[in-house]
Amino acid sequence: MSSVDLHSHTYYSDGALSPEALILRAVEHHVSLLAITDHDNIEALPIASEVITHQKLPIELINGVEISTQWEGFDIHIVGLRFDLNAKPLRELLVKQQQCRIIRAEKIGQLLEKKSFQNAYEHASQLALNGIPARPHFAQYLINIGAVKDVQAAFRKYLRKGACAYVKTNWCSIEEAVDVIHKSGGVAVLAHPLRYDLSAKWIKKLLETFKIAKGDAIEVIQNRQTADDNKRLANYALEYGFLASKGSDFHSACAWSDFGKLAILPENVVPVWHNWGVTAS
Ligand code: AMP
Ligand code: MN
Ligand code: MN
Ligand code: MN
Repeated sequence: MSSVDLHSHTYYSDGALSPEALILRAVEHHVSLLAITDHDNIEALPIASEVITHQKLPIELINGVEISTQWEGFDIHIVGLRFDLNAKPLRELLVKQQQCRIIRAEKIGQLLEKKSFQNAYEHASQLALNGIPARPHFAQYLINIGAVKDVQAAFRKYLRKGACAYVKTNWCSIEEAVDVIHKSGGVAVLAHPLRYDLSAKWIKKLLETFKIAKGDAIEVIQNRQTADDNKRLANYALEYGFLASKGSDFHSACAWSDFGKLAILPENVVPVWHNWGVTAS
């Protein structure tokens, strides 16, 4: 069975695998339509595309990116799909977002130094391919030195919103992210709506904001969701008139977020790929 997966990460952001290893793993798990969606980064795309062509692999790659935005004090993720890789609006936005990431990482480092983690920024930088550590790289550093037992604990104790090394970041707005994706020829998808720790009332407020910003789709199927979550998100897609996307949010090969485990989209929603000329589901 061939399947669709429109959300995944390589080591160009906080994923563990190279673009080649990611593509080979996706093929092994019968993914036939894959979007690589690194955080604020599109460097893996031409490399992955070359791997597919060169090795004649049975998989279609969709250009993707996951843009961090700032909304009402929350970090909200907007996935862009099928944009033109050379589009200037997207490239310019990503330069700004990377600058935000550098400034934020330095501040996180300073806050961790206050907790006596000397040179936290430098250590975390060494774990990031491009030298700009994302929060999972700081988490890995804290695990490596034995300060916490796992990633969850690192986020809970230090990195998540409200914790002592959390840094509010000047990301672009939801409106700007959607606008830039559209100007670059792509479609805008609200990523994992149930993973922002928002009450039902706030989720609806977020969906309204995304609708007014002309967002196209929301992620309905994800790996770590219950059947009730899936149904709830499908209902939101119908209620607000959004197309529906699905993606594993693959970061590394672990039991809860591997390729090939996604449920199919409920039949009452319209897939975001409905007019892409593909047969996978
Ligand atoms: P950043 O882009 O630096 O803000 O890091 C966000 C990434 O951290 C997300 O894409 C997830 O991969 C990871 N993440 C966020 N919250 C948690 C959490 N509570 N536990 C583990 N990983 C998390
Ligand atoms: Mn991530
Ligand atoms: Mn995300
Ligand atoms: Mn993601």
